[in-house]
Amino acid sequence: MGNHNRHPAYRGPWQTIRKQILTRDNHTCQIRGRRCTTTATHVDHIIPITAGGPWWDPDNLRASCPNCNIDRVDRTKQETWRTSNTRITLIIGPPGINKTTAITAQPGDLIIDYDTINAALGIEAHPDLHGPALKARGAILGELKAGRVKSKQAFIISSNPKAEGMFHHHTIKLVDPGIDQALRIIGTAGDIKGQELGKAERLVREWYRVREGGTRQVSTNSRKW
Ligand SMILES: [Zn+2]
Repeated sequence: MGNHNRHPAYRGPWQTIRKQILTRDNHTCQIRGRRCTTTATHVDHIIPITAGGPWWDPDNLRASCPNCNIDRVDRTKQETWRTSNTRITLIIGPPGINKTTAITAQPGDLIIDYDTINAALGIEAHPDLHGPALKARGAILGELKAGRVKSKQAFIISSNPKAEGMFHHHTIKLVDPGIDQALRIIGTAGDIKGQELGKAERLVREWYRVREGGTRQVSTNSRKW
């Protein structure tokens, strides 16, 4: 995306985030378009800011070479998921709340949950591996988006307050216990303590702050696409 410097959001913290994303993606272009030069020096917003994508969220950012950043084609043609047989449910709710209870999965259904990936691999204790784990999740999401997943149902679980704008889906399920209950749940979980608890509480408050008034607008139906 051009003219980065004009947007106030691109001053200061952006430079830090930009470097983090380039490092996370090994300075390798993640778009790999026709004119790709492989070496990434730009950072691209997957969902453009103008379309409501968060400018700061690593999930919405990827390293890009200059050519691919310029060439960003209309990707809708590649988004075969819209017409595939896999029904995609996006399950959203504040961080720290068990959202898997909202899943009605059958054997063979795909469940894309970052926390489960991390738990299965023992990654929580290894912050250096959070980037690669995100990439693994991103690769699965890419397959889903391209319509190459054969399962009947797929579930994407997200604690991102702007998840609807970031993940392709047919249906949304909201798991919202209310802020007081959400804070109580993480406070009594026992496995989160001290500084980590403070951080978790901040993330919960942030989720509610960002969604303020927005949760009521979440419909259970697909958007128009
Ligand atoms: Zn490229």
